[in-house]
Amino acid sequence: MSVLRLEDNIKDTMQHTTSKLKRTQSDALFNEAKTYFPGGVNSPVRAFKSVEGSPLFIKNGNGCMIIDEDGNQFIDFCCSWGPLILGHNNPEVKQAIISTVENGTTFGTPTAVGNTIGKLILDNHRYIDKLRFVSSGTEAVMSALRLARGYTSKSKIVKFEGCYHGHVDSLLVKAGSGLATFGVSTSAGVPESFAKDTLVLPLNDLQGVRELLQSKSDEIAAVIIEPVPANNGLLLQDKDYLIGLRDLCTEYGVLLIFDEVISGFRVGFEGAAGYYGIQPDIITFGKIIGGGMPVGAYGGRADIMAHIAPDGPVYQAGTLSANPVTLAAGIATLTQLLDPNFYPSLRQKTEHFVQSIKSHITSKGYEMQIVTIGSIFWFAFGHDRIIRSDQIDPASMEKFKRMHGELLNNGVYLGPSGYEVGFISSAQTYKTLDQASKIICKAIDNIF
Ligand SMILES: *Cc1c(COP(=O)(O)O)cnc(C)c1O
Repeated sequence: MSVLRLEDNIKDTMQHTTSKLKRTQSDALFNEAKTYFPGGVNSPVRAFKSVEGSPLFIKNGNGCMIIDEDGNQFIDFCCSWGPLILGHNNPEVKQAIISTVENGTTFGTPTAVGNTIGKLILDNHRYIDKLRFVSSGTEAVMSALRLARGYTSKSKIVKFEGCYHGHVDSLLVKAGSGLATFGVSTSAGVPESFAKDTLVLPLNDLQGVRELLQSKSDEIAAVIIEPVPANNGLLLQDKDYLIGLRDLCTEYGVLLIFDEVISGFRVGFEGAAGYYGIQPDIITFGKIIGGGMPVGAYGGRADIMAHIAPDGPVYQAGTLSANPVTLAAGIATLTQLLDPNFYPSLRQKTEHFVQSIKSHITSKGYEMQIVTIGSIFWFAFGHDRIIRSDQIDPASMEKFKRMHGELLNNGVYLGPSGYEVGFISSAQTYKTLDQASKIICKAIDNIF
């Protein structure tokens, strides 16, 4: 189905603003899925636990639109949680995948396509010298931590409350009582012996980092942060804070890891490192770098990366790492991102969209805000700037839940949790964004 057809059809959806979504097929499929998979899903947030109804089973995506098994159409702001910066079924990405698959899917050997993506990234990203591909963001982070530990011969890691780094054992932790404390695991199955090697601090508190590094830097291998924290709301940090982190890590001989699985290639080709002009020691990637195929990667300074096997003693391997299909999708995606107009145009679209909702919220005086950077946005409730996870009022999630339901009924798809951010893909047009904005403003009216 062509994108144009889909866009025209939104008008129909918009007219039935009170009609309930038809969910017959999705509900039946979900009931069946529950007999195969825990909770009926293969990743927990997909289960729609914090919004109304059960999950929609999506069967088709084209441009900025997705269609579920009942034939409902939505303007998509989830974008598979971030990878699809070009939207669904981008013609070049699709073609690259198809022509690669013609020659086989994986060989477990080096490939020429590997060199192509290596050159493409390293020639255009000033903050990493060498790169290693893996198959998920979680794997990238896990490997980066091992590398940091192997390089420094130290064992503890500092992380921040409100940053997510995948489901790595030692990072599924929250702060215990007290200020800079040993982590307490947030998932069953994570031994306390793992959690205790992770120290957890609040975001936006440089003094806390200084004190911790002063007392424990001889045990701390690395500080890891999402420089654009986008997994627990969008907790934008001050540039000075991030620069301060860099300086403290340098001063105390601790590596700084930027987890750019979301922000990499999203806030610019050079991600948050380029956006803020800060040189981390290691950067982790995922999502966009694989163009919608399963992927992760980590890169860093040449002398640090030289510690990875087979050059060095830090073991890390993967049967399907850098498989040619993923890399072809990555190349086709990243090549389009290198067009000098790509990011400015996407930012302009996002600003237009965000501004239209912002003026509505302001004119009505609603206790709500929309936070944004690059092509990421987040709806937050309340007026105050939210910079730490403890500033998010859990009670406000009730409002998000109602808003999410209203939006689905009217053809707009947001990720099914108020803690998740939304993404604008380049497949959005001013027309689709204006349509979505109208629907969103109406939904906001209805919840206030
Ligand atoms: C998504 C994400 C991860 C985990 O990536 P997966 O591919 O889901 O394992 C890690 N870190 C950040 C910042 C992420 O957004």
